[in-house]
Amino acid sequence: MTDDLETPRRPEPGELNFTSPERRGKPPRHLADLTALQRRELVAGLGLPAFRADQVSRQYFHRLADDPASWSDVPASLRDDLAAALTPPLMSVVNERTADGGLTRKVLWRLFDGALIESVLMRYPERVTMCVSSQAGCGMNCPFCATGQSGLTRNLSTAEIVEQVMAGARELARGEVPGGPGRVSNVVFMGMGEPMANYDAVLSAVHRLVDKSPEGLGMSARGITVSTVGLVPRMRQLATEGLPVTLALSLHAPDDDLRDTLVPVNTRWKVAEVLDAAWEYARTTNRRVSIEYALIKDVNDQAWRADLLGKRLRGKLVHVNLIPLNPTPGSKWTASRPQDEREFVRRLEMAGVQVTVRDTRGREIDGACGQLAAAE
Ligand code: SF4
Repeated sequence: MTDDLETPRRPEPGELNFTSPERRGKPPRHLADLTALQRRELVAGLGLPAFRADQVSRQYFHRLADDPASWSDVPASLRDDLAAALTPPLMSVVNERTADGGLTRKVLWRLFDGALIESVLMRYPERVTMCVSSQAGCGMNCPFCATGQSGLTRNLSTAEIVEQVMAGARELARGEVPGGPGRVSNVVFMGMGEPMANYDAVLSAVHRLVDKSPEGLGMSARGITVSTVGLVPRMRQLATEGLPVTLALSLHAPDDDLRDTLVPVNTRWKVAEVLDAAWEYARTTNRRVSIEYALIKDVNDQAWRADLLGKRLRGKLVHVNLIPLNPTPGSKWTASRPQDEREFVRRLEMAGVQVTVRDTRGREIDGACGQLAAAE
């Protein structure tokens, strides 16, 4: 670990940061950063047979074996060199906190340069969802979000994103999560960071997750959700990638006046423009768009806002997730009253819009959206 990581400056209200600060040193290069072809070239460059790259990739993605000593199809004399070249350590566990009887597990990770990120595993009867971070910190500065208040430290590499999923996959495979051995079925990019602000690494990570072994993990793209606060050019770009992932748009307000404050990126791309890009995504991919809406008491939960939201979404391929806000320490923002929440749901349903109130799994360990602030 190096000690060159400065604490990012706290952003001014409304200030946006789209670029990862320049830092000395890059995260270690790992096989998950590379395509299968690039891995073979790397191994051949070491003077080793290229097929060894496929063997190590299969160990990593398919057998979920991160200990080179267990790579039985690789000669013992080559394992350490191959591991150094292809699977260097990327992150170490600072702590793991569990809730819901061990079915929700939040891990705080330290990266090579000291940056801290978090990932959360949530096991449900019918699925296992990993919520991953795409950046250390976030430059989008949403005032109700703990991550946004601490600013952007840096973008994560593809492998740093993928490894969060793989760590969960290994825990599950080893039977360390109650409920017996299992697999990760869903990945949501809803941890720290704005995925679209680290587009290339996030897109490569999605490829690694859906590509078949030895190229990748072989998940279904339909199990993957990429969220955004509304970086319109990137939303339009994602629609052209031919990957049927779910797009989740964190809207949080149906009108520009409020959204300019709640989601400062709205000062760049207005509600109408963001929704147009969402509908284009739905048309191109034939995937239903998720609209995320954190219900905040007396801020965005009024009946007239429910009606305006219903009007804007009516007739579209869309599903609304209402998220009871998780209050962050010292914050004036808090969750809506139950009766206001019920009325909001009723009005959306009256408009013919599908809506669910999201399960706030992980609340007791600060693992729900907007609560990943990576404090030790
Ligand atoms: S809500 Fe999401 S986009 Fe907004 S500051 Fe928090 S992590 Fe960033």
